[in-house]
Amino acid sequence: MPSEVTPATEEQLRLELVTVARRMNACGINQGTSGNLSVRWGDGLLITPSSLPYELMQPEDVVLLQGGGRWQGRRRPSSEWRLHADVLARRPDIQAVVHCHSVHATALACHGLAIPSFHYMVVMAGGSSIRCAPYATFGTQTLSDLALAALVDRRACLLAQHGQVALGAGLDQALRLAIEVETLARMYLQARLIGDPPLLDDREMERVAAAMAEIHYGETPEPLP
Ligand code: 13P
Ligand code: ZN
Repeated sequence: MPSEVTPATEEQLRLELVTVARRMNACGINQGTSGNLSVRWGDGLLITPSSLPYELMQPEDVVLLQGGGRWQGRRRPSSEWRLHADVLARRPDIQAVVHCHSVHATALACHGLAIPSFHYMVVMAGGSSIRCAPYATFGTQTLSDLALAALVDRRACLLAQHGQVALGAGLDQALRLAIEVETLARMYLQARLIGDPPLLDDREMERVAAAMAEIHYGETPEPLP
């Protein structure tokens, strides 16, 4: 049974999108109007509007996006709507996408660096590394294509000279993964200050992944009765 129950109504999802967007900035992994979030809704998606400060954002500002970039609402959709639509179309396992410009992940991405298996928690992003997609102009189909390639078998990637993307079974899980990616990036930058840290080999990362899967690590436990 999925650990995150999707809210039943469009209104609930709009409110959750605004709430999680504000939490993204409040927890320090994003600044200003950078970043954007989306959540699957029917055969389309709900996405944050472009360039609207999160503290001013209201549920009615959230944009409903459908196939071919058709959208409905009083605001323009995020400039990264292609990335969000492509991820949700290509990845049926994913319900929500968070994109942010967190400082340490972006610092690595400015050097085109991936996050390797220097720490076992890298597995939380789905594999033995968190890849860095090559640079492309924000909002372009090329950026979306490059990000999608970096996200194969993964739930997060870095975007060169830009930021990071994290995916989840819900908005809350996607935000938690984005925070984890930022934490790992910060640790990796620190570790590199005294040389290249040794890496865990693929067998160990697979062991970690199996151990986490066995205890459903990272999934929100059901509330106790
Ligand atoms: P939007 O305000 O259009 O969502 O753009 C922010 C951003 O991070 C672009 O990559
Ligand atoms: Zn961005």
